[in-house]
Amino acid sequence: MAMVNIRRDVEDKFYRYKMPLLQIKVEGRGNGIKTVVPNMEDIARALNRPPTYSTKYFGCELGAQTSMASERYIVNGAHTADRLRELLDNFIEQFVLCPSCKNPETELVITGKSGHEDIHRDCKACGRQNGVNMRHKLIAYIIKNPPLKKDKGKKGKKGGMTAEANVGGPMVFEKNAEDGSGEDEGSPSGTPAPGDQSVPTTGTDIDAVLGRSDPTLGNPDEAEEISKKLAKVDVNGGDDDDDEDADSPYALLGGWLEENKEASDADVIEKIKEYGLAGKYKVLVEIGHHIFSDEVSKEITKRIPLLQALVTSEKHQKALLGGLERLLALSPNTDSLLAAGTTSKVLMILYQDDLLDEELVKQWGTHVSKKYVDKEKSKKVRKSADAFLKWLDEADDESESE
Ligand SMILES: [Zn+2]
Repeated sequence: MAMVNIRRDVEDKFYRYKMPLLQIKVEGRGNGIKTVVPNMEDIARALNRPPTYSTKYFGCELGAQTSMASERYIVNGAHTADRLRELLDNFIEQFVLCPSCKNPETELVITGKSGHEDIHRDCKACGRQNGVNMRHKLIAYIIKNPPLKKDKGKKGKKGGMTAEANVGGPMVFEKNAEDGSGEDEGSPSGTPAPGDQSVPTTGTDIDAVLGRSDPTLGNPDEAEEISKKLAKVDVNGGDDDDDEDADSPYALLGGWLEENKEASDADVIEKIKEYGLAGKYKVLVEIGHHIFSDEVSKEITKRIPLLQALVTSEKHQKALLGGLERLLALSPNTDSLLAAGTTSKVLMILYQDDLLDEELVKQWGTHVSKKYVDKEKSKKVRKSADAFLKWLDEADDESESE
């Protein structure tokens, strides 16, 4: 992988802060033409920023829509590598480098009350704090999607990023997990990436879940074991590759939903048609995964009419369960969500509204599957459905004894 200085104006080849040279791939044509940045995650890791920030920055600067689903980072329209590299330089200048000492080892810290936030760059090298341009369009996105806080240990809560959080974090585990998914090959392990910190993503990042939210990940051995399992999942789960591909209309729909969680039912249906996915059962995976937030047990009530319009067969029901499984298992707050019995609450609502057949949901509840998330996660999600499944059984017994 070609490496360049994070400050490309510095020609010193011994400059210690390197990042991979931004690569692009233009895909599609006509109105659907788009520019994929396949190594955005690696770049973002070197910059100690979420890959969503730089992608969104491109979108703001180019007036283009972005899509950041399934760990693929895409800007609509055809753009040259040179143009995006220039924009990346600007992003680094405005949101990464310390203006005082020009060192990239900074963190973004959000302070202030909701509606009156302030963001500054907290410099590890010189200790100064410098603001950012609060009028930039990216600001709203950063405030809505703050960098992950890491000082609380196992739970990756959203919030401001703190300075001390950076040291000795779960990086080792995350590296292992990434090796398992084959994403991290050729990564500059010798390069002192600023802070050497993992990069929070939009919540679909399995590494984030493994690294931050899983209290069972006490030591690297366990992480390695899980990474092996993940590798296996990759091999065996090949038949699902088509809907993970950023090219696929499913991924685009997922990205759109992620950014438009408040969209009306009518708009969602319109969008599904636009992507040529009307009637497709896999649409429900995207809906389950991307239209809801951690508040899914409250939000789902409002979406019952939409779900009733979309769920037309058992396949659709299973896909919806799969999407919700991803939502719950891959949330940065998965442990607290599952501990709160969110799965049971959601299933109960779906069942009461005739969106799930009893036999189907029982089958789902008793069969761990690695189709949508890894086995460990799958097991945990089902465990969080215990109360509902038990209720189903008891309701059965009662009707039998009548
Ligand atoms: Zn500084």
